[in-house]
Amino acid sequence: MNSHSHASLIIVGHGSTVNPDSSAPTHLHADEIRRRGLFREVVCCFWKEEPNMREVYEMIDSQVIYIVPNFISEGYFCQQVLPRELRLDGPTTQRDGKTIHYCDPVGIHPNMTRLLLQRADEVAPGVPRDKTSLIIVGHGTNLNENSRKVIETQVALIRDGGHGFAEVVDAYMEEAPLVADWAKLTSAPNVVVVPFFIADGLHSFQDIPVLLGMREETGAALSELGVFHHNPHELQGRLLYYSGAIGTEPHMADVILDQVHDFDVKHGVANADCRMPNAELLPALEHWLKEGRDVIGEIAISSNADGSFTLCHIADRGKDGLEPHHEAEAARTLAQYDARGAFRPLHTAPTLKRGWRLDLPTLDDVRLALDFFYPAAVGMAHALEHEKLTAVPLREVLGRQTGMYRFTNTIRDDQAHAMVGKTCANENCLRRILWPLTSAQPLEAAAAAKTQPNHAPNAIPLLCIEACTHIVSAARKIARENHEANQPKG
Ligand code: SF4
Repeated sequence: MNSHSHASLIIVGHGSTVNPDSSAPTHLHADEIRRRGLFREVVCCFWKEEPNMREVYEMIDSQVIYIVPNFISEGYFCQQVLPRELRLDGPTTQRDGKTIHYCDPVGIHPNMTRLLLQRADEVAPGVPRDKTSLIIVGHGTNLNENSRKVIETQVALIRDGGHGFAEVVDAYMEEAPLVADWAKLTSAPNVVVVPFFIADGLHSFQDIPVLLGMREETGAALSELGVFHHNPHELQGRLLYYSGAIGTEPHMADVILDQVHDFDVKHGVANADCRMPNAELLPALEHWLKEGRDVIGEIAISSNADGSFTLCHIADRGKDGLEPHHEAEAARTLAQYDARGAFRPLHTAPTLKRGWRLDLPTLDDVRLALDFFYPAAVGMAHALEHEKLTAVPLREVLGRQTGMYRFTNTIRDDQAHAMVGKTCANENCLRRILWPLTSAQPLEAAAAAKTQPNHAPNAIPLLCIEACTHIVSAARKIARENHEANQPKG
């Protein structure tokens, strides 16, 4: 793909509030593309993790933006949720002086066929294809009609493409043809099973192995990567080779780039005369450090005499014996779990673990690391200083929820204030809330305290411009309780 050094790439993933497995491949593909230096900036955002789809625009300087959904299929998320959250009005959106190109999701790109073949060969090296049945597995159910279509297309492409497999079939967890019937669906002595999912997780670690008969229902725990490393499995007189989710394949980074390339070709985008705006975020960070604002959240930033920088937990400043790290990407791992090993879905929870030191050669690396520790925080602080930050009222966020969250906006005002006061309390989250209840109603009671500046004078503030997924979940719970309380008794 040609260089897009004038543009930013945003990769959108689903994410999870329960474990980091869901967002891990999206981050790794972003790392790989960033390493290749093809874009001015490469960032991720998520539906269920930070940064969310409103905040992500504050992380980038470029005026030309490509967005690639790291999703398996077109459908509810890619056609409704993502355009709504990212404020898109078509393939190309012009907004706030930016040109935003919305590409197709990775899973429907024709090059997924090549990846599936590669994955099948990797998982069963040296096993002749003409003695092998290939099963591509999807979730199934009416909600995933499009993902079924994508899998059926891949099966047809591989079956009819002369790739030499004895047979190629699709199978699903929750509808026919069922994964559990794999032995009846295939006849070759070797069987390769590839889950057509974006990330490994409950389905690929546990559900599908149980359906295949590789393990007992009550067997080993989730997140056991070993499930992919014990091939082949001798089952029902056949040799079964089981692979991780196709989305974890490193070459998915190429498919993301292919989607950008195809977008340019399909829509006739010429990048030759694009304007390159001045960088704003890096100079802002440099300026803050020079004036002694060297703290953000629980992190202290030290400028060293040789021009390099050291980041550490603020409580560890000046301490010896800290565990050294040297890559900005290490920040992502350091921020992932607290000291007790619990997943930190909210990066601004005051639970950052201690005992580490991050030595970084350039300010660019510091900016990247801070975006891993506190996604979009630098950009939002800069935008606030320049009065360019727009906060979204709580009622607006709750009102645009759909699916199982569509009732969240039925909670009463007093419940909303109490919920925000409790969920967003400083012991849970270090951000300062900038949004009101409605455009005409400020937050009140316990929630009002969270709208006041809560950072030290030498700190870069952590800001909240829109209620996060934790608030939406809390509102759903209250709305459900209201509904149950209003049901006639008996
Ligand atoms: S909504 Fe509350 S908990 Fe969520 S990020 Fe904002 S301040 Fe923190």
